[in-house]
Amino acid sequence: MQNVYLDHSATTPVDKAVAAIVREYMVEKFGNPSSIHSYGRSARPIKDQSREQIASVIGCLPEEVYFTSGGTEADNLAMIGYALGNRDKGNHIVISNIEHPAVEKSAKMLEGMEFEVTRVKADQYGEVPTDDVKDALTDSTILVSIMHVNNEVGTINDLSAIGSILSEHDIAFHTDAVQSFGKVPIDVKAMGLDMLSLSAHKFYGPKGIGALYVRNGISLSPRTFGGGQESGYRSGTENIPGIAAIGLAASICQSEITEEASKLTRWRDYMYDRIKGALSDVSLNGHPIKRLPGNLSLLFRGVPGDALLIALDMEGVAASAGSACASGSITPSPVLSAIGLSDSEARSSIRFTLGRSNSREEIEYAANVVINYVRRFRETSVNAH
Ligand SMILES: *Cc1c(COP(=O)(O)O)cnc(C)c1O
Repeated sequence: MQNVYLDHSATTPVDKAVAAIVREYMVEKFGNPSSIHSYGRSARPIKDQSREQIASVIGCLPEEVYFTSGGTEADNLAMIGYALGNRDKGNHIVISNIEHPAVEKSAKMLEGMEFEVTRVKADQYGEVPTDDVKDALTDSTILVSIMHVNNEVGTINDLSAIGSILSEHDIAFHTDAVQSFGKVPIDVKAMGLDMLSLSAHKFYGPKGIGALYVRNGISLSPRTFGGGQESGYRSGTENIPGIAAIGLAASICQSEITEEASKLTRWRDYMYDRIKGALSDVSLNGHPIKRLPGNLSLLFRGVPGDALLIALDMEGVAASAGSACASGSITPSPVLSAIGLSDSEARSSIRFTLGRSNSREEIEYAANVVINYVRRFRETSVNAH
């Protein structure tokens, strides 16, 4: 049996060099960067270096990068911080109906505070139509938040097109780029972005550290109060080991991005072709072309997705359900439902996400295991009738 990790959209293993720098800033350069003495001084330069490394990936200024505890906090700060800080401009917000809960629940919270939210529907491929975003705008719209890449089906939205429409208005544009950062090219200027969220553990860094890009000229109402770190946006002693790590992880991604994207696209397409060649009634969720390189979300008609996942796990293959599993009860994924899958189709969907930790042989092994088990499940269900 092999162990094959195909759940890189849930989290990634930490790169070895990144783990080493975490240790360095935990054990050796452990000072509080606000301290005057040499320990404090030794922990200070890494903050600027890390900001530069992140800024270089997305084309912003280092001073426009603010560290947070992860993607969730970055999304919360962007949505709630912008809305509350710019309430005098209007009270209408536009998001999509397939946003991550960190954006969706921030919007929901704002709805309880006299803000109005329009949720633009993604199409059957998981793409948010630019024209529908345009149609959703009103005179009181202050903020649009559309994710770059969807975490379940991997569809890549055309942020440049949306950004160019918003550039004609005084409306802030935020994107949740947690799934795309370091994997799909991003240029905040070309895309017209004012804010962008990212999280280290989705690109081979540790959990618990993320960042929010906030364009100079945009002002947020802080959500955290205290010592005034991160220019007052995010008080609290900085997570220096995490900050060292996220910068290094970002720069490794930057140097690998082209090669890695083409490799993962090849393997993903190979895995799909193998499975589709061997099995009937399999289809792809998400966009056939505009998709995250490593994302393969498949619908195996008639197969119980939860049982298939468990069987794959017993063979060492780790994937994820198209359904969110909460306290033992499987509820169909809201994203899959939103793009038009029935409950039973959503329950028969499995997401494989390939990444840097995989090898060509692992993909071959995983494809074979999937084919064998889907066949077995289908035979069993035929016999049961
Ligand atoms: C993982 C994820 C988040 C949350 O990031 P955390 O660092 O885990 O809080 C937000 N948005 C998307 C699209 C994600 O995939």
